[in-house]
This record gives sequence, C-alpha cells and structure tokens, in this order.
Amino acid sequence: MVGAAYPIAMAGVYKMADRAASSHPPAAESGAPPPPPRVQVLLPLPLAGAYDYRVPAEIPVQPGDFVLVPLGRRHEIGVVWDPPPDGSEAIDAARLKDIEHRFDVATLADVARRFVDWVASYTLSPPGAVLRMAMSVSAVFEAPPRPVVAYRRAGESVPEGVKLTPQRRRVLKLAASGPPLPATDLAREAGVGTGVVRALAEAGMLVPVALQTDVLPIQPDGAKPGPALSADQEAAADELRARVAARAYSAILLDGVTGSGKTEVYFEAIAAALRQGCQALVLLPEIALTVAWLDRFAARFGAMPAEWHSELSSKRRRQTWRDVAAGSAKVVVGARSALFLPYPDLGLIVVDEEHDAAFKQEDGVIYHARDMAVVRAHLGQVPIVLSSATPSLESVVNADSGRYRRLHLPARHGGASLPEIAAIDLRRDRPPRQRWLSPTLRQALSDTLAQGEQAMLFLNRRGYAPLTLCRACGHRLQCPSCSAWLVEHRLVGRLQCHHCGYATRLPEKCPACGAEGEMAACGPGVERLSEEVAELFPQARASVMASDTITGPRAAAEFVRAVEAHELDIVIGTQIVAKGHHFPMLTLVGVVDGDLGLAGGDLRAAERSFQLLYQVAGRAGRADRPGRVLIQTADPDHAVMRALIAGDRDGFLAAEAEQRRRAGMPPFGRLAALIVSSADASHADATARALARTAPRMEGVEVLGPAPAPLSLLRGRHRRRLLMKARRGIDVQGLLRDWLARVPLAGDIRVQVDVDPYSFM
Ligand code: ADP
Ligand code: ZN
Repeated sequence: MVGAAYPIAMAGVYKMADRAASSHPPAAESGAPPPPPRVQVLLPLPLAGAYDYRVPAEIPVQPGDFVLVPLGRRHEIGVVWDPPPDGSEAIDAARLKDIEHRFDVATLADVARRFVDWVASYTLSPPGAVLRMAMSVSAVFEAPPRPVVAYRRAGESVPEGVKLTPQRRRVLKLAASGPPLPATDLAREAGVGTGVVRALAEAGMLVPVALQTDVLPIQPDGAKPGPALSADQEAAADELRARVAARAYSAILLDGVTGSGKTEVYFEAIAAALRQGCQALVLLPEIALTVAWLDRFAARFGAMPAEWHSELSSKRRRQTWRDVAAGSAKVVVGARSALFLPYPDLGLIVVDEEHDAAFKQEDGVIYHARDMAVVRAHLGQVPIVLSSATPSLESVVNADSGRYRRLHLPARHGGASLPEIAAIDLRRDRPPRQRWLSPTLRQALSDTLAQGEQAMLFLNRRGYAPLTLCRACGHRLQCPSCSAWLVEHRLVGRLQCHHCGYATRLPEKCPACGAEGEMAACGPGVERLSEEVAELFPQARASVMASDTITGPRAAAEFVRAVEAHELDIVIGTQIVAKGHHFPMLTLVGVVDGDLGLAGGDLRAAERSFQLLYQVAGRAGRADRPGRVLIQTADPDHAVMRALIAGDRDGFLAAEAEQRRRAGMPPFGRLAALIVSSADASHADATARALARTAPRMEGVEVLGPAPAPLSLLRGRHRRRLLMKARRGIDVQGLLRDWLARVPLAGDIRVQVDVDPYSFM
C-alpha cells in the first residue's frame, strides 16, 4: 500500500480484509449524483486546520472515519472531518492527494468531533493538537493481535512410530488434565523445552486450539444493589437517577462534607447509566487515588471499570481505547485525558473532587478538564455530576445562580462527627530551633499514639529541604535552567529542580565562594520532618507519602492498605494524602505549615488553601473515634484560618465571592494569560512589548503587563507574562485571535495562551 517511510505509528498497519462486510454505504448509488469526491481530513498535528483529500471510489468514507493520507513525504493517520465548505475550490483538483486507506476501527462519533472543535476554539489550540488527545494511542491502528494457539491432548492413542519419552509423557499428562495451554506454558509446567511440545503437535498427539485473546471481561452490574442509603443520600440518588434516565444535559453540584457518602450516591447514578446500557465516565484528579476507588467500585458493581491514565501499559491503553470506541467499556475512570476518549454512547459524566487544581492541564493544549467536561456533557446532552466537599467558587456561583442544581449531603455517614479544628499560634507555641513541630502538636501526637490511634502530619513540600545555602557567603543553590531553588532529596542523595527535572549531587564546596562543608539545608520537607518524628517517637512506625516516594497507583494502594491495616502509626505526607482516603483509626491531623499555600498570593491562593486544609482535616475521625485537627500558623487571624476553625465554609466562600465580584475577577470576570518565551531574554522582551502595544483597547477589557513571570526562566527559556482581564460576555477568544494575528512571531519565540489561567507562575 504505502512506501517505506512510515511515521512511527504506522508499523504493522493492516488493510481491511473485506470491504463488503463494512457498514459503510457504497460510494454512489446508480442514478444519484456521485457524492463530492473530496473531504477534509483532520490530522493529529499542530496544523492550522483540516486538509482536503480526494476520496477514491474504492474507499468510501464518512465523517469520523480514521484514514491514512499522504502528507508531504510522510503518511499520517487522521480523521475524516466535515465536507469542505461550499465554494472552497481553492486547492485545484489536480493537486489533491488521495486517501490511501480506511482503518477498521469504530468511527469517531459526531459529538466527539464537535467537542474537539469546541475545545480547540476555546483554548485557541490547533484542532489537530486536540484531536491528538483523542487518538492518543497510535497502536490502536496496528493489526489486531494474533490469536494465541494453545494445545490439548488429541486422544489416548499413540500413533505408529511415535516414541514416548518421559518428557513427552509429562507433557501429555498435563495437556490431558488441565485447560489448553500455549506451548511455552505447557513446556514450562512440564519442565521441558518447547521443542518437545511442537514435536507432539506435529505427531498429532496435541491439537491446537485458538485462544480468544480479548475476551470481554465481566461487566459491572447495574442491577446489583448498593448499600441502604440514608434519607439525604436517597433523595440525592433519586434525583441523579432521574437525570440519567432523562438523557438530557444538566449539571449537578453534589456538595457534601467529607465522608458523607458522595461516592455512594454517584455510584447510584452510574448504576442507572449501566441499566440504561450507556457509558459512564468518572474523572479523578489524582491517579494515586485510583486503586482505592477501583476496589470500591469492584465491590459495588462486581467487576472492574476500564482505567485510563498515563501509567497504563501501551497494550492496556490500546485495548481500552478500542473497548471504549466499540462501546463495550461501560464505565471508564481516569485522569483528565479520559475526557477525550471516543465514546460512542456516553450517558453520564462524574467529576470527583471537582475543585482540584490537578484538573487543569498546564502544557500542550491548556485546558481545564472540569470545565471541558461540562462542555462535553452539554454537547452530548447528558448529565454531569460535580462532586466535592469544598466546591470551587466557580461551581458554587453556578449553583447559586441556578445554572447548576445543588444536591446537599450535610452529615457524615453513620453519625461520625466532623473533626474539631484548632490553630496553633507559632509565634507563641514555638518549635525548637531547626525543628518544626510545636510543643502542643508534639503533645497531641504523643497522646494519640498512647491511645493506640493513628496520626497524620501534613506538609506540602516534597524532599528534605526546599533550599540549600552556603553558611559562609549566603549563596543559594539554583537550577541552571529555571529561576527556582534546587530541592534536596536526601533519600536519593540528590538536589532536584521540581520544574525541569534537573538533578545533581550536593556539592561539598560552595560553587560561589569555595568554602568547604558549609552547605546547609534550609526549611523542612517531608523527609526532614520524618527525621524529627523518628527522633521524638523512636518506637512509632512512621512513613512518608509523597508523589516521589509513592510512584504509581499500585504503590499508593499498598501504602493505603498499610495505613488501613494499622501497620503505620504516623503518616507524613504532601497533598496526595489529603484526598479521598478513609482511615478509620486516624484521629489526629497536624498541619505543619498552614500558611504555605497562602504565600504565593495569587487569585485563588485563599480558596485553594482553604480547600486543601479542609480536605486534609477531613481525613481525621472518619469512623467512630472523633478526630481533631491542629493547624500550625503564624497568622491565626487570617480569613482562611478563621473559617476553618469556625467550620464556616459557606461564610468563607461568600466573602471570597464578594471580593472577586468587586475586583471583576473570575468567575465574575474573565482572564486570559499570554506567556511569551524565548531562549533569548531580549527577544522575549521585544515580543512582549509588541504585544502590549497592540493589545485590544476597548471598554471592559484591560491588559496588564508585560512583566517577567515569577518563573522568569524555565527550562532555559525566558518568560514574560501579559494578562487580559475582560468583563463577562466579552468574546475573549475573538479578541485574542485578532490580537495574536497582529504580532509576527520570529525565531524561537513562543506565545502560550492560557484561557482561564489557574497558575500565575
Ligand atoms: P465521600 O465521598 O462523601 O467522602 P464516601 O462515599 O467515601 O463519602 O463515604 C464515606 C464512608 O462511609 C465510606 O466508607 C462509605 O462506604 C461509607 N458509607 C457512606 N454511605 C453509606 C451507606 N449508605 N451505607 C454504608 N456505608 C456508607
Ligand atoms: Zn529547572
């Protein structure tokens, strides 16, 4: 079919064996005028738009088909998009190239294509870059796996001339007793070489049988009854079931305190979707949470859902993609990228922990998965459930205005009480020098251990120390390609940049003044805290849970199991311990630095800090033992601390909303950031200034900057920021498009557009 220069994705591409068997209509019925012989094909590349191709008579295609097309000297897989708009005969027919091949995989549904267009247009990304997320596994287009051949015993008789060695007897005995096994397995179990098995097969004493390789796994059962629900839970579940049955768009904010049974309630919505035979998608912010969630799901529905995240093997990804596209994967749980899978019949979307900042993707196509999930639900006319104990201000405002329906679960399940939260004033209750636990927190830890209960210490800082400096000259160790300090990770004996991954050994001499043995760690990370804990409580079993010590969902599951089994007394963790977990014996949560999240001071610092601390607090006292939470802070009068202590979430949100409304900030106004970057600082500056000069000037729009980004150097690129602030209702994307078109970008200059920014770094 095509030449040798395949792009990587093309290894082993196969042709459809039998076109007659396909569901596609023939290209043209006799008598009817032939359909236009050209279509647009969108390629998963950052191009401006779709390209035109000719449709050869022998390859009938329809929108959504995956096809192979030539592109320059290469061959690319793309998707048949829309027919070319009328009168777009710009490319002369002679220059049109032919579609080369159509793949035998499910077509990309209409709604999925419109979603790609929508996201591209909203985020100002090339549509092909968005399509790439929907096609993320190129291996899908390779030939399907060959069936595995297994062997079973042919019968009792021994053909003429076949000698039965002891080795052969062992193989035959095995093959007669168990299920058919592939040659390698049979040989291994019999303790012989595979040659022995093959010889027996040739002699006709073993018969080959094809093993089904992708047998459909058992499906989750929507008819399986869940737990008996409380009255509040039942009312919420009822409403969700009705909305799933209605098969129409609606957005529901499932707002309930930690441990109130939000998961049980949205499981009822999933059950309803399953009974209806449509697909359901659940987005989780953190793959570390997946395994616990999967176990719960499996217990509730009798089978596993399909998983989707970056840690899957390519084989699993490929199988999952195909199962989703074929509609046979009924429930998908995954990270934000699961939103772009090719669902043919999605009937429900759930976004769990909807407030979580991890739903914002910060590179490539910059998008917020929660917001785009709402768009996807709207395009597909299905309900979406946003679940959280600390909903984002965006969602709260939408609920208050009636755009979202709010379902409320006010109490913890089974009468467990919410933990008591108190502040420890670090100005009075001081930790010793070079230590971070105050006397009050130490006492609380010791009391908790004495009662045989568990404690959690929360510090949102990975590694040993966030900063290393020279005691002789004050020099600070910085990343060579980022404006960021190097973080010491003592366990692995390295200094690391948390932005670009640069790593180096701790120098013995100061690189600035040459002084020897003067490099000193400054401030605590979780590793350093665990040293302090070991010193104070040598008998306690303590362990650190952070994204670099717990790599991947399995490790997280093992950690969670160890905590649940009470194999640990003290858990020391970063934000990955804050979320979702249910540890019945955990009664004390100590927040080591409650002010840490407020330091940056960006738009959402207070909101995020409140959410994170409330979530951490929510790990305490989830079962019959009451919990307590102690937050160390140098500013106990800060609005965030006061709200946490008073348990006044709604008051806090109302005050926060009022401030944002007055400042015209999201969700009451709109923001978009431009990040200009270049390896050359003067180029970055020149372009940033040119953008400022040509910025849109109109009523209701304000452009701030340019200013050096807080991370003014990242991976060797100098970064400048501009921020556009616009009144609601202004066509931000239109303005941005016109604006960017006015400034030519030369050399290695890049301008990233971040619509609705969450990071201001
Ligand atoms: P949330 O998602 O709101 O934090 P969960 O759904 O995780 O709450 O519920 C907290 C705990 O209470 C879980 O262990 C859950 O299984 C249990 N639970 C909640 N509702 C019920 C119920 N109706 N019957 C039995 N157990 C429940
Ligand atoms: Zn770096």
